[in-house]
Amino acid sequence: MDMAVEAGVIKQHLIDPEICIRCNTCEATCPVNAITHDDNNYVVRADICNGCMACISPCPTGSIDNWRTMPLVRAYTIEEQLTWEELPAELTPEELEAAGVSADAGDEAAAPAATAPMQVATVESVETIFNSAQYGATVPPWSAAHAYTNLFPPKMPTTATVVGNFNCTEAGFDSETHHIVLDFGVVPFPVLEGQSIGIVPPGVDAIGKRHHARQYSVASPRNGERPGYNNVSLTVKRVTEDHQGDPVLGVCSNYVCDLKVGDTVQVVGPFGASFLMPNHPKSHIVMICTGTGSAPMRAMTEWRRRLRKSGKFEGGKLMLFFGARTQQELPYFGPLQSLPKDFIDINLAFSRTPGSPKRYVQDLMRERAADLAALLKDGSSHFYVCGLKSMEEGVVLALRDVATEAGLDWDTVGASLKREGRLHLETY
Ligand SMILES: Cc1cc2nc3c(=O)[nH]c(=O)nc-3n(C[C@H](O)[C@H](O)[C@H](O)COP(=O)(O)OP(=O)(O)OC[C@H]3O[C@@H](n4cnc5c(N)ncnc54)[C@H](O)[C@@H]3O)c2cc1C
Ligand code: SF4
Ligand code: SF4
Repeated sequence: MDMAVEAGVIKQHLIDPEICIRCNTCEATCPVNAITHDDNNYVVRADICNGCMACISPCPTGSIDNWRTMPLVRAYTIEEQLTWEELPAELTPEELEAAGVSADAGDEAAAPAATAPMQVATVESVETIFNSAQYGATVPPWSAAHAYTNLFPPKMPTTATVVGNFNCTEAGFDSETHHIVLDFGVVPFPVLEGQSIGIVPPGVDAIGKRHHARQYSVASPRNGERPGYNNVSLTVKRVTEDHQGDPVLGVCSNYVCDLKVGDTVQVVGPFGASFLMPNHPKSHIVMICTGTGSAPMRAMTEWRRRLRKSGKFEGGKLMLFFGARTQQELPYFGPLQSLPKDFIDINLAFSRTPGSPKRYVQDLMRERAADLAALLKDGSSHFYVCGLKSMEEGVVLALRDVATEAGLDWDTVGASLKREGRLHLETY
């Protein structure tokens, strides 16, 4: 056994609550369910985390990459971490000595789970359950452009001006989704399709703490909603009920949907370095989304449309599977209809159309199995899934079944999709 563990020292994995934007990416990524959260903080269970580092690169803010040398008996509990407003400092050499730990023990300290064999046993049984998140890539496609991230971290937001805001659904207030355009003036804020930004709502929460930023996917292509201007667009759904269906007015989504042209907003980011589109001419893009998960798909589609219009791109296919409760709730329904059929293969699924059977994106994927199988066999195909968390498993299972029915070995296909940055999951 490691000397440091014998002495009861660990490198404890902690999340910085001042920087974390509560996007849930780490919780979805962690293969052993070591991350949990409440309304206040995201935290890491010291007895489960094995320091595998799978969560480090997907975290958009870097807030997850914090480690403290701790005597095992004093490891911060989940309950303690949930109350934090800021990270505690490293223990001083004197404090470590007082706990019976030599000051240089930290260099040798082991990841916590090495000391918790019982927990590791639990983890093995978890791994046998189908976990769609394990197929999501944390690397971008090889031909993706370089993404800038964290130019404006949560502690240092920049200001953008609202230059457009309109409802992009036909549905009523409860399902209203807005298309917002933000201009950065002369402030450098380069974004790529698939990245997101954070909006910091004004004011404080119930306990008097300033609101944390909410994350929104960029809906415009890299050269702006209005080409040649320093602007981005977002697709924001007004949250009027919580996940249980109880009425609640979401803090940031309502703030954003109510913004007027000329208002200014505090912005952090950009975030995201892997959910990026391929740029090589033979690359095919399969986009699977629900609701506001259409934002990054709109950005990618529009960039390819602009390239095609200027004669600079001929090649890869675009295939879209888009789900909503009704046609009226589907963002950008009108503009989608006007895209040429030889440019994009559109498949719409509505789950609450009166008089029609419920259809979900995975149902459409199974109907299009022959085309999807051909794409799965092609190493230039890239798959993007964005929208409701609940869609993730159904979609990945549909891909698995399509592959298997086509005689492909899913373990091999799934592993290469992940390794080559060709399957990306972003659900919330
Ligand atoms: C990577 C990523 C990308 C995202 N992109 C978009 C995007 O493009 N467009 C977009 O509209 N949103 C997007 N979101 C969600 C967004 O960040 C906010 O969570 C959402 O706008 C709700 O924030 P709020 O402040 O209005 O609600 P809060 O005040 O934070 O929450 C109010 C209550 O509603 C619940 N709740 C929160 N969100 C929802 C929801 N969507 N449905 C039902 N209940 C909810 C909360 O649990 C809470 O109980 C994204 C999230 C992530 C992690
Ligand atoms: S380091 Fe690995 S085990 Fe620990 S929280 Fe991150 S993903 Fe989970
Ligand atoms: S910002 Fe990083 S630490 Fe915070 S919830 Fe997102 S992935 Fe986790």
